[in-house]
Amino acid sequence: MNTVYIVVGSVFLLWFVGGLCRHARGRNKVIHVVDSNCTGCGRCVKRCQHHVLELAKSESGMYAVVKQPDRCSACGDCLPKCKFNALQLVELIR
Ligand code: SF4
Ligand code: SF4
Repeated sequence: MNTVYIVVGSVFLLWFVGGLCRHARGRNKVIHVVDSNCTGCGRCVKRCQHHVLELAKSESGMYAVVKQPDRCSACGDCLPKCKFNALQLVELIR
């Protein structure tokens, strides 16, 4: 029974510390779309659970825009979804 408590406690601790790290990182960074690389595939938009990104239309087609930068936690979940090197986490300028 003690083993169960230790395992559950360890998982909770890892989750808590990970959350603190993500929060600290998120205060300094924000997502940025490199327009010239974006194909408008929308994979990043679907991945972001915070609804930071949105697809917009231009004369040359669709592309991703950072619609709500204040909601970006800099979690980086969207980065591996982009196969075109169009997403970067950049320093937040206040
Ligand atoms: S870094 Fe995280 S919160 Fe920010 S746009 Fe990407 S998935 Fe959304
Ligand atoms: S995944 Fe990359 S190429 Fe696709 S819409 Fe997002 S930024 Fe653009």
